[in-house]
Amino acid sequence: MLEVRNLGKTYRNGVNALSGIDLSIPTGMFGLLGPNGAGKSTLMRTLAAIQLPDCGTIMFDGIDVLADPVALRRRLGYLPQAFGAYPHASCRTMLRHMALLKGLADDAVTARRIDELLELTNLSAHAGRAVATFSGGMRQRFGIAQALLGDPALLILDEPTAGLDPEERMRLYYLLSQLSGDRVVVLSTHIVDDIEQLCTEVAIVNKGKVITRGATATLVQDLAGRIWESPIAATPGSAAMQLSTAFRRGTPVHRYFAESPPNEAFVAAVPSLEDRYFLELKSNQPC
Ligand code: ADP
Repeated sequence: MLEVRNLGKTYRNGVNALSGIDLSIPTGMFGLLGPNGAGKSTLMRTLAAIQLPDCGTIMFDGIDVLADPVALRRRLGYLPQAFGAYPHASCRTMLRHMALLKGLADDAVTARRIDELLELTNLSAHAGRAVATFSGGMRQRFGIAQALLGDPALLILDEPTAGLDPEERMRLYYLLSQLSGDRVVVLSTHIVDDIEQLCTEVAIVNKGKVITRGATATLVQDLAGRIWESPIAATPGSAAMQLSTAFRRGTPVHRYFAESPPNEAFVAAVPSLEDRYFLELKSNQPC
């Protein structure tokens, strides 16, 4: 269990990136969903003990993360949002190098572990290739392989699917869906579909605050019978809350939240996590 209490961070430029974050994160795949600038990366870096908050506490399996970051790092796998420059060293050489940095011995056990991870991430056939030549999806899979090197009990994945094409995204979903097991996995994203595909539990964050959290399925089911859609927007002044306007093959689809249809042009729609996401963002605007 990862326990976060009253975490706060204001950057020197005055941006309040985290404001009283409280979260209890159990074993399994936990999603942190929020728009760009919500504070997700700041929170992820803080959970990974590479950035200090101004206040608050983080406990993981008895480790006081802020007081003893070294103890945490022994149990942590971290996939940062940006990996920096990709080296010309081969994928296997990089994994061996990173294993040494994590304190793993350069022996047969580590070599076997690297082989297993290459297999798991579907990179065995590319182990001799320079990471610099990898596609975006392969780089992310390499990033996950390095994060798993020490068989971590806590895995922090900061926007793992950003910039991937649909096929690479699907491949990554498949890989990520196999990872949770006995670990705590925290995955941050601004892509609602990432959460729908992977996470049983989610917290929605905005402007440095957790604005809702719960079981993904429950957050969606609670909207049943209250989501309406129509190709024509409701007239201004309607009591219904407009959630989104999307397009289906060029035709607008306006979605609203209301106890009853805004007018006779509206039909009931099956609620989605995206509806919940927009409802929470719109209901939690600062005054
Ligand atoms: P997200 O990952 O959800 O996009 P971030 O944690 O990156 O959010 O950023 C939250 C807010 O903090 C944003 O307004 C961002 O501009 C600001 N911010 C992030 N890092 C820094 C920094 N090093 N210095 C100043 N402001 C920052």
